[in-house]
Amino acid sequence: MDTTALQRALIAHGHPLPRFGADGHFGGETRTALQAFQLRTGLRVTERPDAATIAALQAVPAKRPPAPTGPAVKLPAFPKPTTRRIEEIIVHCTATPEGRPVSVNTIRGWHIGQGWRDIGYHWVVLLDGTIAPGRPESQVGSHVAGHNSGTLGVVYVGGVGADGKTPKDTRTPAQKTALLELCRALIQRYPAIRKVTGHNQYSSKACPSFDVRKDDLGRLI
Ligand SMILES: [Zn+2]
Repeated sequence: MDTTALQRALIAHGHPLPRFGADGHFGGETRTALQAFQLRTGLRVTERPDAATIAALQAVPAKRPPAPTGPAVKLPAFPKPTTRRIEEIIVHCTATPEGRPVSVNTIRGWHIGQGWRDIGYHWVVLLDGTIAPGRPESQVGSHVAGHNSGTLGVVYVGGVGADGKTPKDTRTPAQKTALLELCRALIQRYPAIRKVTGHNQYSSKACPSFDVRKDDLGRLI
C-alpha cells in the first residue's frame, strides 16, 4: 500500500487529513491519523503501517462518525485583499511569558508608546487560538526593520518561558492550529506570497522562538 492509498484509506475510515490531505507524503499528520486508527481499532500502535494495520485499512470501513480532528479554527472575517503587494508572511511572538494573556490593545499600547502609529503586526493569535486583527493589511506594518514593505506581520502571544526572558516555543495547540490556518488563508488571499518566514531569519533576535523553516508553517508553500 503506497502512502497515497494509505491516506485515502485513513480518510475513508473516518480519519480526515485536514491539513495536507492525501498528498503522498508520510508526515506527522498521517502518522497521527494512522495511530488514532490503530488505537480505535485495538491494533498495535506503530510508526509505520504494519501488515495487520494494512489489512484492517483495506477492509470496508464500518459506518461511523468521523473522528474528532482537534480544535476547529474560526477564521476572522477577512477584509477585501489590499492592492499593496504582499509577497511574504513574517511570524513573530510577543515575547511574553508562557500562559499570560495579552490583548491586541495591550500590544497596540506598547507600540504606540514607542512612537509608532499603531500596533506593528497585522494579525494576532491569542492564547486560545482566536485570530484578532491588528494593523489594517492595507498599511505597511512595523515588525521587521527593512522588511515591512511587501510583507504581513503575524504574531502569537507568548514566546518566552515563565522567567520572562528565556526563548521558548510556547504555542498552545490552539495557537499552532490557528497560526497555520491563518497563514494558509493569507496565502490563498494573496497568491503572490512566496514564503513564510520568522523574524529570527532577519535579525539576531530569537523571535518567534522556533524555526519557521522546520515547522508546518514553513511547508505551506
Ligand atoms: Zn518579532
